[in-house]
Amino acid sequence: MCDFHPALQFELARCYRIEDWIEPAFRQLMDIPITSLEMSHMRQIGDAGYFWLVQTKAQIDNHRKHFAFDTPAAINDPACNTPATCNYTWSREWDTTISELIHHPDVPMSCIDLLNLLEETEIDDLCEGHRKRTVSWVCGIGHATKEEDLIDAAVTALMSLQTDEPIRAALMSSVVDGAERQVQGTSSLRGQPISKAITSVIHRSHSIELVPR
Ligand SMILES: [Zn+2]
Repeated sequence: MCDFHPALQFELARCYRIEDWIEPAFRQLMDIPITSLEMSHMRQIGDAGYFWLVQTKAQIDNHRKHFAFDTPAAINDPACNTPATCNYTWSREWDTTISELIHHPDVPMSCIDLLNLLEETEIDDLCEGHRKRTVSWVCGIGHATKEEDLIDAAVTALMSLQTDEPIRAALMSSVVDGAERQVQGTSSLRGQPISKAITSVIHRSHSIELVPR
């Protein structure tokens, strides 16, 4: 685990093709509000990284809005003796508690965490059979994995840049030595030996806000 900002880790991963750093750096960036990123972080993340970061955050935000807004109907349990009460309670809880948790301004809950919470938490006036059947159905239509699928898609796209980008650059240049200069983006670290860059990183990290752990 790196002890410097994930934007810097992402920059190093891109510059030096450190494949194992792309996903952890991107996932940490996904956990940081976009408003807390500074211009220097955006430069480090680069055009492609910033595109996927903003795109993925927006897609997840959009998914969460639909998830909270489209109240799923409760799935009846044949053994339930109070279906009308259970159906009413499920809808009421979804429209109040669930919406508040998923749209919380400081610590919004992900869909998967929310579904796990519903799976494990007893709710007054909602029988276990109704609750578990309904949560299982909501998971089954893709809500449980949607956010993770979007992050995985972004990581896959970024990983493909790791291998494809230098190849495309080389094809565009008849001079192999000049190909690296055509790699997307610029960086003060680009072109430095990795050992020198890491030394620079350690110095620079003192002036960069570290991610709380
Ligand atoms: Zn019931």
